[in-house]
Amino acid sequence: MSGGLYRIRAFFAPDIPDEIRAEFLLTSAVQMQKQARLLFLALLLTTPTAVLAAAPDASLWVRYGAPAAMALLCLAGFVNLSRDLRLGSSLRRATRFTREVTIGSSAMAAMCSAWCVTSWLGAPAGERIYYPIVIALGAFSTAYCLSSARTAAFANLVITLVPMLMLLLTSGERMDFAVAVSLAVAATFQLHMIDSHQARVVELLRLQKNARELALSDPLTGLLNRRALIDNAMALGQQGPLRLLVVDIDHFKAINDAHGHDMGDEVLCEVAERLAIRADLMGSVARIGGEEFAILGRADELPEALALALLHDVRTAPMPHGGQVTVSLGVAEGAVANEDDWRDLYQRADRALYEAKRDGRNRAVQAEARVEGVAAKAA
Ligand code: GH3
Ligand code: MG
Ligand code: MG
Repeated sequence: MSGGLYRIRAFFAPDIPDEIRAEFLLTSAVQMQKQARLLFLALLLTTPTAVLAAAPDASLWVRYGAPAAMALLCLAGFVNLSRDLRLGSSLRRATRFTREVTIGSSAMAAMCSAWCVTSWLGAPAGERIYYPIVIALGAFSTAYCLSSARTAAFANLVITLVPMLMLLLTSGERMDFAVAVSLAVAATFQLHMIDSHQARVVELLRLQKNARELALSDPLTGLLNRRALIDNAMALGQQGPLRLLVVDIDHFKAINDAHGHDMGDEVLCEVAERLAIRADLMGSVARIGGEEFAILGRADELPEALALALLHDVRTAPMPHGGQVTVSLGVAEGAVANEDDWRDLYQRADRALYEAKRDGRNRAVQAEARVEGVAAKAA
């Protein structure tokens, strides 16, 4: 795309940051459904005035045809948007809806615009000035209702106002010219308002995303925190039995005592990274306490061999304090339908971890059945 075209596209449909694009589309679609429904209702109620407002010698189409077609369109739109379209839960539905509203509202804008232009052309000179008022108020209300979808709002303003502005500017009347200038200024402010509205929504969504991430992540390691792990357990539990690995660093206090708390933090981060590199794609990796981590996933997606791989990864990783670090693991499996099930799964994994510690550390123990024993000394 050439520079000029890109700038025009960026002006009318600026890029939404990737990290909130989906959220933005869903929120906009839901908001637009509410506002477009109101818009259809308002337009439906005003269509009778179009019959009264048409010039006395206007054609039958301008007098009755166009207002009737408009009323039918509005009624259909209002009924359609009164249904629960479940836009907030499907990106595909939200995107399609936004596209349909953009096309539909642009078609309606073209009809209104054509009606006003033909009425102006057929009206006596003294009555013409009412049509710019009618189209301007309609255009601004519509743009307000479509402000969640910037492209649709911009298209509406352009389609409804530009033809009328051309008529006003070329009529040769002094006052028409003044009205055209005021209308253009008002439209520019409306465009600016829509622009700021979108920027504010983007900013709010970004803040919301940051706040959610902060609430669900561990600030030291960047892994999920305990709250996030429980949320994931509730969601994943709907899909089948889960497997939980509770991982605890062996003799971590000794590292703190020998090298200081800051070095201890660095070791925690290193261990977190080893766990994440190995298990991030298979399940949720969380830090659930001081030097305690957890890995949770569907039992059919977290291989049984994962515990051994993690023992190996941590034991062989170069650590910031220059020594070796080992971990002990407790592994448990079970269905999780509610928080009680989660507590039971966690307790069984924790008991298995306790057993691994008691049996000498640097090993994994399966709840109720020990799966591995590694006789190696922790650093
Ligand atoms: P075990 O093998 O039995 O697990 O022994 P341990 O020394 O690892 O366990 P213990 O529970 O005795 O000690 C855990 C230590 O972890 C004590 C605490 O000061 C330290 N700790 C907890 N949170 C943090 C943290 O965020 N940073 C650092 N550097 N240390 C932490
Ligand atoms: Mg420990
Ligand atoms: Mg511990």
